[in-house]
Amino acid sequence: MSYRVVIVLGVADRVRLSVVQAYRFALDLTPRQERAVLAHAGAARVAHNWTLARVKAVMDQRAAERTYGIDEADLTPTQGWSLPALRKSWNAAKSDVAPWWAECSKEAYNTGLDALARALKNWSDSRSGKRAGRPVGFPRFKSRRRSTPSVRFTTGAIRVEPDRKHVVLPRLGRLKLHESARKLARRLDAGTARILSATVRRDGGRWFVAFCVEVDRAARTPNQPQVVVGVDLGVRHLAVLSTGEVEPNPRHLDAAGRRLRRLARRASRRVGPDRRTGRRASKRWERARAQLGRAHARVANLRRDGLHKLTTRLAREFGTIVVEDLNVAGMLRNRRLARCIADAGFAELRRQLAYKTGWNGGRLVVADRWYPSSKTCSGCGAVKTKLALFERTYTCAMCGLVLDRDVNAARNLAALAVTVAGSGSETRNGRGADRKTRPGGPVAVKRQPGTAKAGKTGTVPPQGRTSNHVPAYAS
Ligand SMILES: [Zn+2]
Repeated sequence: MSYRVVIVLGVADRVRLSVVQAYRFALDLTPRQERAVLAHAGAARVAHNWTLARVKAVMDQRAAERTYGIDEADLTPTQGWSLPALRKSWNAAKSDVAPWWAECSKEAYNTGLDALARALKNWSDSRSGKRAGRPVGFPRFKSRRRSTPSVRFTTGAIRVEPDRKHVVLPRLGRLKLHESARKLARRLDAGTARILSATVRRDGGRWFVAFCVEVDRAARTPNQPQVVVGVDLGVRHLAVLSTGEVEPNPRHLDAAGRRLRRLARRASRRVGPDRRTGRRASKRWERARAQLGRAHARVANLRRDGLHKLTTRLAREFGTIVVEDLNVAGMLRNRRLARCIADAGFAELRRQLAYKTGWNGGRLVVADRWYPSSKTCSGCGAVKTKLALFERTYTCAMCGLVLDRDVNAARNLAALAVTVAGSGSETRNGRGADRKTRPGGPVAVKRQPGTAKAGKTGTVPPQGRTSNHVPAYAS
């Protein structure tokens, strides 16, 4: 019986590692600087919206002309969708459309045009089937009230000041950081980092600058390079390791639930905007919404912090980490589970493990989605046909093993990696899904016996169907 195993990263044999990563710092902007950033974000939006309107107008015009029977060669010329083509149109029109254009950095307009070029490409790739994932809609106009203000600088004077508490950006000048940028500054001083771009954006009521940096990282080895650890992800416990260690699920969203509900209720009692009647939101509504946004941002920060600490610890410690290929997108479609799953952050945890094992010289093994990790006995390998979710202890009828359910699953995952040890590594895009997943079909929660609807054969372990899978080992 063999299950398909995908090793996402395996770079232990490289001495230095060049990676692109982000450094994000909170900013303390003065009111004048905030106005300048908002002006730049607004300029990006104007460029985006005007160019999008032009793209649409040209498309409509050509469609209309075709209905008149005009020759294909005599139609209105097409508007290119690439960034240079969009920029050319914008530059030709900016003096009429935005006579104030010289007040903002050219990078502001580039931010909006780049976003549009990528949105158009995503849409056309999605339509032609070149792009995986959910269908992408046609780009929409950005609204001042609803879009996140953001501007990205890719050229010009971008640097961290020697005091490490200020950054310099084109046009905006010297901005004070809320926290020290020493981690980035050290790398810049040592010549192991190169800033590719800097993005200023507002998030949860606070301004941030994110540097996209090409970093030359020294190759590391995990503390226990030979050790294989299985990680069973769950809602009851966030992660259970095959070593028996249990990482509790902090459930930040539940903890903040009372406060979030109160703030949401407060906002709902204020006079909000109404598109139908054109009513503008009241100041008190905006303040209440801002409070709610900050409360949500805090939950996100707590969650991110916990996940980073866990994944860094795992990637630094163990040579091989085995996780299940959970169908997170599918699980989020389950209304009862979505809240817990989203709060736990499985997808983010998996994403972080993938790149951090790469950085630390370890490897991540992703078990096939249909591997019955919970139902297999980690002692003798017997597979149960039924194991209800409420059974927290695994009891084997064949060898008499009694073990915590999650630890048993984690040990099975760890054992899976041993079967592929020494078979080389294979790199695959982490988001490539198993082709057995039915798109838009019934929610495929981690298959547990007893959870299938009547008439469906969900209780049978699917090894019969997976056994003819050829293990996808690289040579
Ligand atoms: Zn057994």
